[in-house]
Amino acid sequence: MTISLKDLDPHEMNDWCPGCGDTGILAALKNTIVNLNLDPHKTVIVSGIGCSSKLPNFINTNGVHTLHGRPIPFAEGIKLANPDLTVVIDSGDGDTYGIGVGHFISAGRRNVDIKLFVHDNGVYSLTKGQASPTLPENRKVKGIPEPNINGAINPLQLALFSGYTFIARTTSYNIKEQVDLMSKAIKHKGLALVDILQGCPTYNYEFTSSQWFLQHTKSLPPTYDPLVKNPADMNEVKQKKKDALSMMMEDDDMSIHTGVFFQWENPDTFESRLQSRNIPPPLSQQIADKDNNSTVDLAKTLSSLIV
Ligand code: SF4
Ligand code: MG
Repeated sequence: MTISLKDLDPHEMNDWCPGCGDTGILAALKNTIVNLNLDPHKTVIVSGIGCSSKLPNFINTNGVHTLHGRPIPFAEGIKLANPDLTVVIDSGDGDTYGIGVGHFISAGRRNVDIKLFVHDNGVYSLTKGQASPTLPENRKVKGIPEPNINGAINPLQLALFSGYTFIARTTSYNIKEQVDLMSKAIKHKGLALVDILQGCPTYNYEFTSSQWFLQHTKSLPPTYDPLVKNPADMNEVKQKKKDALSMMMEDDDMSIHTGVFFQWENPDTFESRLQSRNIPPPLSQQIADKDNNSTVDLAKTLSSLIV
């Protein structure tokens, strides 16, 4: 089964401007869920605030539309409470790399098994196109009166330095590559980032059209191998990180690689650290007996808090 843009509900197309890259990302995510045969009731899509963050409303899974910059702690909490769930964040570049950047960095320190699919269009599109943290310096877009005076951050490098164990990039108009990278990210055990350069025809048409992406993006070389073969070999991990950084630094504003830059199935996940301290996920803890009476001893819990 393949879902294309024309299969999407017209209601969805009305919520986003005509030609918006968010529709391509939605189509790719639906295809990914179908291809991986994920149970909708065991899949959760979490978003923050922004045009992209409307996405959980248009997909038949569990979904949470959270606060600005806060989808990461929500998603971490959901995954740690019930590790059986597939937890995906779909949020924007302003939400993730701007107001939520503290959470973005801290997530790397934990390596919880959640997936971030960031709709990266260089602008805060829902609030009329102000420059986001990924808009390059000196780039003029519709919503700002003068060219951008701030430098841009590179989210892939930030993810690498923060501890993300899967890092990839694609574009919203390339559904085949998105499905491939989303599938790899979901199968990866650990924290994964897929930065999706997203078309915003309304506020950043000149630098995010499908034509612009065709001219300014290219696949990583076929000889480039991002995968750490022996996850316990820290020398190999270091070397793969150096390779990834050097590949990321080859990119500039006008020439951008797509594909998987780095993948390390680091067994040191946050879930494994909790397990080693004998802290079971809340969902597996018994809270009621067979007659539905609470088995939680609140008096004992409260007395343990008295200092
Ligand atoms: Fe899409 Fe941009 Fe319109 Fe928002 S403003 S719906 S990102 S085209
Ligand atoms: Mg944006």
